[in-house]
Amino acid sequence: MIVMKRLALLTVISLIVTMGVAAKNKKKAQQPLKPMNEFVSELMGKMTVQEKIGQLNLLPSGEIQTGISENSSVSEAIRQGRLGAILNLKGVDNILKVQKMAVEESRLGIPLIFGMDVIHGYETIFPIPLAQACSWDIPAIEQSARIAAKEATADGLCWTYSPMVDISVDPRWGRVAEGAGEDPFLGSRIAEAMVRGYQGDLSRRDQIMACLKHYALYGGSEAGRDYNTVDMSRIRMYNQYFPPYKAAVEAGVGSVMSSFNTVDYVPATANRWLLTDMLRQQWKFDGFVVTDYGAINEMINHGLGDQQQVAALALKAGTDMDMCSEAFTATLEKSLEEGKVTMADIDQACRRILEAKYKLGLFADPYRYCDKLRRATDIYTAEHRQAARNLATETFVLLKNENVLPLKKQGTIALIGPLADTKNNIPGTWAPTATYQYPTLREAMQRVLQGQATLLYAQGCNICRDSVLQADGSFYRTIPRGDDAQMRLQALEIARQADVIVCAMGELQEMSGECSSRSNLELFDVQRELLDELLRLGKPLVLLNFAGRPTILSWEQQHVPAILNVWFAGSETGDAVCDVLFGDKSPSGKLTMSMPQNMGQIPVYYNHLNTGRPVEENTQKFAKFQSNYLDVRNEPLYPFGYGLSYTTFQYSDVTLSSDQMKIDGTITASVTIKNTGHYDADEVVQLYIRDVVGSISRPVKELKGFQRIHLNAGESRTVTFKITSDLLKFYDYHLNDVIEPGDFDIMIGPNSRDVKKKRVSVLAFSAGS
Ligand code: BGC
Repeated sequence: MIVMKRLALLTVISLIVTMGVAAKNKKKAQQPLKPMNEFVSELMGKMTVQEKIGQLNLLPSGEIQTGISENSSVSEAIRQGRLGAILNLKGVDNILKVQKMAVEESRLGIPLIFGMDVIHGYETIFPIPLAQACSWDIPAIEQSARIAAKEATADGLCWTYSPMVDISVDPRWGRVAEGAGEDPFLGSRIAEAMVRGYQGDLSRRDQIMACLKHYALYGGSEAGRDYNTVDMSRIRMYNQYFPPYKAAVEAGVGSVMSSFNTVDYVPATANRWLLTDMLRQQWKFDGFVVTDYGAINEMINHGLGDQQQVAALALKAGTDMDMCSEAFTATLEKSLEEGKVTMADIDQACRRILEAKYKLGLFADPYRYCDKLRRATDIYTAEHRQAARNLATETFVLLKNENVLPLKKQGTIALIGPLADTKNNIPGTWAPTATYQYPTLREAMQRVLQGQATLLYAQGCNICRDSVLQADGSFYRTIPRGDDAQMRLQALEIARQADVIVCAMGELQEMSGECSSRSNLELFDVQRELLDELLRLGKPLVLLNFAGRPTILSWEQQHVPAILNVWFAGSETGDAVCDVLFGDKSPSGKLTMSMPQNMGQIPVYYNHLNTGRPVEENTQKFAKFQSNYLDVRNEPLYPFGYGLSYTTFQYSDVTLSSDQMKIDGTITASVTIKNTGHYDADEVVQLYIRDVVGSISRPVKELKGFQRIHLNAGESRTVTFKITSDLLKFYDYHLNDVIEPGDFDIMIGPNSRDVKKKRVSVLAFSAGS
C-alpha cells in the first residue's frame, strides 16, 4: 500500500516536472526560428571542428531499458558535444534525461536524435514485414507504420531504422523476414507507404523520421549467408533491386542506411557511386546517410585500409553519420590536418544532420517528443491492437485445405507443438520494445473456446534436436526442453481423445532476422516425426507454420490435409489466429516470396528470364537438353502471389479496351471475378506483364498492379487496371529508362502461375502523330 502511494506521488511529481518543461519549451517555441539554411549556417559558424565531427557520431545507449549513467563515456561525449544521436534507449524518462544533458550541459546545447529499430510496431507489435507484405494491403501497412510512429514518439523517440526494403530471392537469408519479398513493384508500393506512415511531413510530433535500409543490394548476399558478398549486373540492380530504394527516396524518406555488403567490390559505406551519384544526383535524396552498425570499421576486414583510411573513404563517398564505429571521432581531425578530407566534406555531413534536427523540430523544441502524458494514452491502445489484429489476419497464407478449415468451435480440439504455448515466439524478429503482455496461442484459444469446446494441450516435442544448430542453443531454450519420446507419448495421448488436431510448429523467431541464415529450411526432424505420428491417427489435422521466411513444405503438402502459414504475426497473434482458424475471417494472404520445393532450387523466383532452353510450363516430364533438373521440376512448390481462401473465386477472361496502344497512350485491362463459394472473403487480384521482344532479354512476367477486393458469397465484380506506358518501362543495356514498341502480354490472375492472358501491341508513334 505504502509502495503504491509512493508510486502515485512520484507519478504526480513527474507530471508536474514534465508540464514545467513543456511550459518552458512553449516559451522557446513561441520565438520562430530562422529559415533552415540560415539557422544551420549561423549555428555552424559557432561550432568547432570537434563539435562538427561530433554531430556525425551515433552511439548506442548501452542499456536499452535502464538508460545512460551520469558518468559513462556516452554522457561524457554528450557534454563535450561529441555526439549527434543515440540509438536504443527506451522510455520517455530516460530520453528526457539524456536530452536535457545535451541541451543544458553541452556548450552549444544542440539536441540529440534518438533512434531505435521500430521495425513492425513499438509495443503494439504488427506482423513481421514479410508477413505484412503478404496482405498486399497498402493502406493497412501504412497505418501500421503510422501507429508505430505514434507509439514510438509517445515514448521519446524521433527516428526509426525502417523501412527495410531489400529485395531478396534467397530464403536462406534470415533477413527476408524484414523485407517485402522478391518483387520490386510490390516492394516499392510498400516502401512508399511506410515512409508516408512514419513521417507524414514531420510537422506533427507523433511522426517519426524514417530510415531506408539497407542501401544497397544487401538481399543479394551470396548463398543467403548474412553479411556475405554481393555481385550482380547493373541491369539487374536497376530493374530488380533498386526500385524500392528509389521509391522510398521519392516518397521523401529523411535518412538512408548504407549496407554492410560490397557493391561492385566496394563496401556500400565507401561506395561513392551508390551514395552520391545514384542516391543524391540521380534520385535527388536530400536527407542524411548513416552507416549500418560498425560498418566503417568493418571495411578494415573488407581490406580497404586502416581505420583512418576507411573513415576518410566513407566520408568522401557520402556517408554522413557513423553508427557505432567511432571512426569519425577517432580519425577525421587527423585526416583533415593531413589533407585526406577537407573541411567542406565535414561541413557537408554536419549540415545534413543539423538539417534533419531542424526538420524534426528539435531546435524549436528539443523536448518535442518527451511528453510523458502521451505514454499513458498513445501506446498499446485497444485501437492499435485492433489494427494489428486485423492486419495479422490478412497476412496468413492458406497453403492447402482439404475440407479441414475453418474449424468449428465444438467437440475436443488438441493443440500440439512447441510453439503453441509460448510468448517468446510471438512478436518475431526485431521487436526490441515488445512488452510480452499478450497471450500465447494456447491462452487465446482457451478464451475463444470457453464454454463451447474442450481444448487439450501438449508440447509434443522440442523445437529441434540439440545437434541441429551450431549456435550455442541458449536462445532456443526459451521453449522448455524435455525428453522427445516422452513428450510425443503425451501428445499422442491427447490427440487420441480429440476430434481435430492443431499443430503449432515451425521455427523460432530468433531463427530468422539478422545473422539467422539457415541452410536447411524444412521442418525440423523432431517436429516432422511427431507430425507423422499424429497424421497416422487419421484425424483432421491443421499445421500452423510459424516462420520468418519461406520454408520447404513438400512433405507436408503431400501428407498434411491443411496448412496455414502464420509467419510471426505480432502481439495479437493469438486472437488473429483464432479469427481465421474458426472462420470469423477467411484467409486472404498471398505469398510475396516463392516457396521452393527443395533446397537445391534456391533461388527460385517468378520474374526470371526465359533462357534459350525453357521447359514448357505444366509438363511433368524431364526435358533433355532443356533448362531443368533431373530430380525436381523448375516450379516452386507454391508460387509468388499464391494463397487459398475458404471460398473459391472464378476469374473471367481478360478484356482489353484495345489490342493496340500508342507508346505514350493508355489502355485498360479488366476481368470479372465471382465469389463462387460460401464465404464472404477478400481476394488479391494481380496484374502481370511480359515484354515479349526487347533489346535485352526480359522477365517472363512482372507484377505491375494489384487490387485487394472484398466479395460476398455469390457476388461478382469487374476489376480494371489502367495500363500506362510507365508500367512498360525498363532499364536497357545502357541503363536508360525506355519503353520499346512491340508485343506485350497482359496477364491477370489470383497468383503469378494461374493467369489469363491477352496480347497488346505497343505502337511506335505517339498520340499526336
Ligand atoms: C542492422 C540494422 C539495424 C542496426 C541498428 C544492424 O546490425 O543491420 O538493420 O538498424 O543494427 O540496430
